[in-house]
Amino acid sequence: MSQCALDVLRKEMMYTFLPGIKFPPVQIPPGREPDGREDGARHFGRVGATLQDSNEPLYPALDPQRHGSKLAGPVAAAIEEEIVRLGWPVGAVVATEAELLNRFGVSPPVLRQAVGILESNQIARMRRGPGGGLVVTAPDETSVGAAVALYLEYLKVQPSLVGQARVAIEIACIEMAAQRITDDDVVVLRELVNAEPTRAEEGDFTCLLDVHLAIGELSGNPVLSLFLKMLTSLLVARSTKEGQDRSSQYSSNFDDEHRDHLGIVEALTAGDASLARLRMVRHLEDPLVLQCMMPEGQNTAMRAS
Ligand SMILES: [Zn+2]
Repeated sequence: MSQCALDVLRKEMMYTFLPGIKFPPVQIPPGREPDGREDGARHFGRVGATLQDSNEPLYPALDPQRHGSKLAGPVAAAIEEEIVRLGWPVGAVVATEAELLNRFGVSPPVLRQAVGILESNQIARMRRGPGGGLVVTAPDETSVGAAVALYLEYLKVQPSLVGQARVAIEIACIEMAAQRITDDDVVVLRELVNAEPTRAEEGDFTCLLDVHLAIGELSGNPVLSLFLKMLTSLLVARSTKEGQDRSSQYSSNFDDEHRDHLGIVEALTAGDASLARLRMVRHLEDPLVLQCMMPEGQNTAMRAS
């Protein structure tokens, strides 16, 4: 495909589906046009590299090899990179199937495979029918967490190390939350903590985690918040594995934990960041709080460390 034809295609594609997004002219060195059908992906990769810089991806370059498939992997990676550069416009149609086939110069089965990779990674999906095409989707936080949890299981990471990371993140979160908490946030936090006794009476002891996760969100740092959610659910999953019933343990600690939570929220409400931090550190250091997060047999090791 000539540079001119590619320019037209790309302009058509973008201006039709994503109005308002401006692209600089495509710069392709002369004599470096792809000659084979499957090289289209590399071509697209270069195009992707010249796209707008107002939304620079977190990573300098996505590795096309990580998607595995030799032919479809680079196509999936190129589309993914473009979606990142476009600022992940959920719901927008990136291109129709015909446009993608033309653009990458791959066969329909290879494109289907690439779309399959994007679908399984919750990046985009192919919508059939009129107005159809490759639609950008929002990745689901739960499945991201599940993937990380699986990987940590594979690495055989000890729960005590997961717990350590969780404590470090929680302390960072409460410091940040204390700096930016609003009156509305205080109301929500208070409601969460005040609801704990009723929820615990109903046997819902996960209520004790909610205030921690809420403080994670109040940090204003989605990275910390996401990691806190992931690590917490990993610890809970580990501690309840093999059908262990931990509710008796939770219920015996409930009063102490609830009281600690009231104290933490009180310090946040007063805007006293150092007191909030101190109370959170003490709360997290409490062996009984830790114990609820650890599988049987790990508790003593954790306390001794
Ligand atoms: Zn707690």
